[in-house]
Amino acid sequence: MYGFKIMTKNIVVLGSLNADNIMKMPRMPLVGETMALTDVTTAPGGKGANQAVAAARQGANVSFIGAVGNDSNGQFMRATLLTNGVNVDAVATNGDVPTGSAYIMLQESGANTILIHGGANQALTIADIDESVIANADTLIAQFEVPLDVIMAAFKIAKAHHVQTILNPAPAVYQLTPELMQVTDIIVPNETEAQLLSGITVKNDDAVLNRVSNAILAKGVSRCIITLGDAGSFVADGNKRWWAKPNKVKAIDTTGAGDTFIGTLARVIESDFSNLDEAVKQASIASAIAVTRAGAIPSIPTRDEVAAF
Ligand code: ADP
Repeated sequence: MYGFKIMTKNIVVLGSLNADNIMKMPRMPLVGETMALTDVTTAPGGKGANQAVAAARQGANVSFIGAVGNDSNGQFMRATLLTNGVNVDAVATNGDVPTGSAYIMLQESGANTILIHGGANQALTIADIDESVIANADTLIAQFEVPLDVIMAAFKIAKAHHVQTILNPAPAVYQLTPELMQVTDIIVPNETEAQLLSGITVKNDDAVLNRVSNAILAKGVSRCIITLGDAGSFVADGNKRWWAKPNKVKAIDTTGAGDTFIGTLARVIESDFSNLDEAVKQASIASAIAVTRAGAIPSIPTRDEVAAF
């Protein structure tokens, strides 16, 4: 065993639910061109959904706060969460907008271009937050794929009830205001997000990462984990700085690596943050396993797989 405690953690994810339409094409079409796709598939996605499933596969009790449209994609996303043991009682159905969707233009070269329609995710309002779900949780996770005022309100409720908050500022579309940072316990940006949020070009160099971390902590949060793909992650906890070394694996698809990292981190971290080092190690193992498999949700490992790694 890897030091897991026998206890169930209650995690709430406030976030996005998207139907991902993966369109395979020989190359990007030109303006005005009509081109045949070589394949089309639909997969469940959205950072919120991925992180919720990751936390659930690591053994947490997970509830979701979010919204879908009154359409087949909405039913598909609800079913996906339910199949993975995620409670959907606090997922609203908004009949005025479609379920969030992503259109992934996957070229034969492997390069991809992604278009997103926020739909019900972007139409989420503060009134959609079920306060009791947050109050009864140990940890609340959010990303930046739902409106900022909703994230703010949820994090304030969490802090009023001594619930831990983990913020994944992805995509980096909002500023890290002092108001938001005051109610955030751990912020987890990837390399691109850390760069946009700090205004400093990120390099895998201790001195640079120290400056980037300092710039983010200066916004009013005390813990920052910058994930750096196959280089691992750089942790800043107050005055302490350390690397979580990457696990050597053969990566075939890095989709969902960051989401697996966050869901696992949330599952393992203690309420007093005393095992941050261990939580980051477990998150690094889970995400390393995820990159060895195809897809986002299908690639997320179980707690037993992480323990056996
Ligand atoms: P995102 O998917 O948000 O861009 P990253 O690419 O930074 O996130 O990956 C998140 C974490 O996943 C990394 O910190 C690392 O622990 C793990 N990871 C990602 N890519 C690899 C890889 N090729 N080999 C091993 N671990 C990886």
